[in-house]
Amino acid sequence: MTFAWTQHRFSGGALALDVANSVILRFDAGRRIDRYADPVAMSGFAAAANRFSAERELFGPLEPVAHENRDAFLDLREATDRYFRATVLDASTGEDLADLLDAASVILRRHPAKTARTPLDAATARSALALATFNEPERLKICPNCQWLFLDRSRNRSRTWCDMTVCGNRAKANRHYQRQKKELTA
Ligand SMILES: [Zn+2]
Repeated sequence: MTFAWTQHRFSGGALALDVANSVILRFDAGRRIDRYADPVAMSGFAAAANRFSAERELFGPLEPVAHENRDAFLDLREATDRYFRATVLDASTGEDLADLLDAASVILRRHPAKTARTPLDAATARSALALATFNEPERLKICPNCQWLFLDRSRNRSRTWCDMTVCGNRAKANRHYQRQKKELTA
């Protein structure tokens, strides 16, 4: 099956989190997949973000990351994941935040002038900085099924899953399976 950047892959609710979520099963060494490892998929992310990102109005049309800026962009992605994941777990350190600010500033210095189309790396840096000073940190969550980071934009902050139609249903099916297994072995 060929890979596609679908709406589900933009469940993060903030561009910086969608970028962080480009690593699937980040903490499962055997099954971890980095969707940016394929340069074609990485380039395609910008166009998909223009369609699906919750922040698409904020940044306007995005350009893919220029080849020479890819390493800095990946550094920002990792710093973003580390800082916000630790924040949700109430374990973030000054060093995590400093790493995020460093990674963002490297990128912002490379894009000093405003351009018609915003490079994805510059937009991601701004998205991460906005999120770091967001006044409702309790809206930042980790999906219990896939471990993606997401911003719960629902009115009553009641979202559990990054995407109900994917992770919510998987959890429901799993509960059903566990119940049946219990009944059979009882
Ligand atoms: Zn999920």
